[in-house]
Amino acid sequence: MAQTSSWSLSGALRGMFSKPTIDENTWEDLEYALLTADFGPDVTEAVIDDLHEKVDRYRTTDPRDLQRMLRESIEERLSKYDTTLKLTERPAVVLVVGVNGVGKTTTIGKFSKFLGTYGRSVVVGAADTFRAAAVDQLATWAERGGAQIVRPQQHGQDPASVAFQTVDFAKRNGIEIVLIDTAGRLQTKGGLMDELSKIRRVVEKQAPISEVLLVLDATTGQNGLAQAEAFIEHAGVTGLVLTKLDGSAKGGFVLAVQEKTGIPIKLVGQGEGIHDLTGFTPHVFAQKLVG
Ligand code: GDP
Repeated sequence: MAQTSSWSLSGALRGMFSKPTIDENTWEDLEYALLTADFGPDVTEAVIDDLHEKVDRYRTTDPRDLQRMLRESIEERLSKYDTTLKLTERPAVVLVVGVNGVGKTTTIGKFSKFLGTYGRSVVVGAADTFRAAAVDQLATWAERGGAQIVRPQQHGQDPASVAFQTVDFAKRNGIEIVLIDTAGRLQTKGGLMDELSKIRRVVEKQAPISEVLLVLDATTGQNGLAQAEAFIEHAGVTGLVLTKLDGSAKGGFVLAVQEKTGIPIKLVGQGEGIHDLTGFTPHVFAQKLVG
């Protein structure tokens, strides 16, 4: 993960944890810090109840104990989900879905690079066939990420047929991972969900779908999640990718989003560079968040 973490809570909490003792203000300050970091009211309340109970049980008044308990409580909550990517099929087909602008194209490039460093060969399918500029942008990122790309043969080609051709290309050329980019036009939600279902049907005739990754922009927090609701309801999402965590003061969204959706976070984007994508490790995240 990046060294500088603007989403880290430690700045906001430093004053509190370096006080001589836990007092009345401590709890209010903690609640304010968690809400500001976008943990959301439900998670904030649950975490604070949990900490109150532990502080009473261990009869401590030391703010450093509280800091440790907060870190442990967050890690425990984040660890309830299986955040490992399931990419054992050959080829392993991954659909990448999400609203335009969240960072889908960039994520596909970074993910290709990430997989390449583990020695995996990757082909990207440009199944958002409506926007020619989007296809070119995807091609640039695929190249940066060391992946091959299957492009639509003509503007507006049926996205499902591009997805079909991509999986077919992978099978014929022994490529291990297929990443399929999909459209994210919110204006035509019904049409978009039908398009995704068709892609699924067509792909599943050739190979099982290993993962459906929903990309979310961490800077938009709970609003972004509301926008992505249709994907969660209809697209069979198996994992979340949180992007732009580097530009967000909302690290708590990571916990809120998992608790709200019940879907594990599998990848985290923390920058615009090709290497700025990592897997999600609860222990590392909790440590960076709380300090
Ligand atoms: P798409 O429309 O969903 O395909 O979104 P793009 O991949 O084109 O990304 C939209 C913008 O977000 C671009 O300017 C990206 O550079 C930026 N972006 C994507 N991921 C990240 C990230 O993890 N951190 C930051 N800071 N910017 C990102």
